[in-house]
Amino acid sequence: MLDFRSDTVTRPSPEMRKAMANAEVGDDVYGDDPTVNSLQAYAADRLGFEAALFTPTGTQANLLAIMSHCGRGEEYLCGQSAHNYRYEGGGAAVLGSVQPQPIENEADGSIDLEKARKAIKADDFHFAMTRLLSLENTIGGKVLSLDYQNRARAFCDDYQLRLHLDGARIFNAAVASGCDVTAITGCYDSVSVCLSKGLGAPVGSLLLGDAAFIGRAIRLRKMLGGAMRQAGVLAAAARIALEQGPFRLHEDHANAAYLAAGLAEVPALEIDPSLTQTNIVYARCRSGRAAELKKALAAQGILITAGDPIRFVTHLDVDRAAVDQLLAAIKQFYRQS
Ligand SMILES: *Cc1c(COP(=O)(O)O)cnc(C)c1O
Repeated sequence: MLDFRSDTVTRPSPEMRKAMANAEVGDDVYGDDPTVNSLQAYAADRLGFEAALFTPTGTQANLLAIMSHCGRGEEYLCGQSAHNYRYEGGGAAVLGSVQPQPIENEADGSIDLEKARKAIKADDFHFAMTRLLSLENTIGGKVLSLDYQNRARAFCDDYQLRLHLDGARIFNAAVASGCDVTAITGCYDSVSVCLSKGLGAPVGSLLLGDAAFIGRAIRLRKMLGGAMRQAGVLAAAARIALEQGPFRLHEDHANAAYLAAGLAEVPALEIDPSLTQTNIVYARCRSGRAAELKKALAAQGILITAGDPIRFVTHLDVDRAAVDQLLAAIKQFYRQS
């Protein structure tokens, strides 16, 4: 199987499986798991925060962030296409009584800060209290510029908002920006990071922030059922993902660029290869036959997400030869039909 649906499909390496089998563990709810403690300390240091918290999922890390920054009856500003608005079951509203205030994302994935300013509610008993701006980097595979993120920081300081980053793919952003990840994290009060995507861990995410913030998140994680016991078996793989994963993401980006250039040769597909900045490629099927294409590829053991547009994601389990196989299968599909 060649799976281009997502970078979440990556399997743990033999080295990860060995580390998991041999992990020293304890009850993490008592704070006794040395492998979790060591991962959290390493992550806080690596990303430039006071503290870090290991969570089962990125969805939970984002929810903990929003609920730790905002109380009942308060609100967060986010992009209309933000993962923590659209794809997390409305958790902030459902479980946190925190109102989302979505703002249409710009073409580059950013939120226009002037639009954000207009969305901040006045201090008036009619309104929810605006507490937080939440950005996402990368968003739909697009990278927010460092200049923009620094302006967002200054904006939040001016209007007394906290600033959160859904950094599920922050290391893809750092690689594409040619900077250390701390150049990005330094703009934010809190950051969530997925270890289970392109970095290759089977399970796990991190939430980072100052010690008081992480203290609130620990209480909420317990409440939400995310406090795990001998989680060191997961943290052992997560540690390898965090230490080593970032060093190979440039390969995924190169494979995505190569795929985008190849897809641009297919007349039936509409794609601008210059829009592929990281490991996600979007192409529109001019004839609206995406579902048929998906079926034909699946018959050859190739999986894609046939939305409109079609999405292809490169990752450590699909190499250049796999991309060539995908391109050949797509070209054959359109030749034959
Ligand atoms: C995948 C993803 C998440 C959530 O990750 P899960 O671990 O699947 O819950 C959050 N934000 C973004 C941008 C993502 O891509």
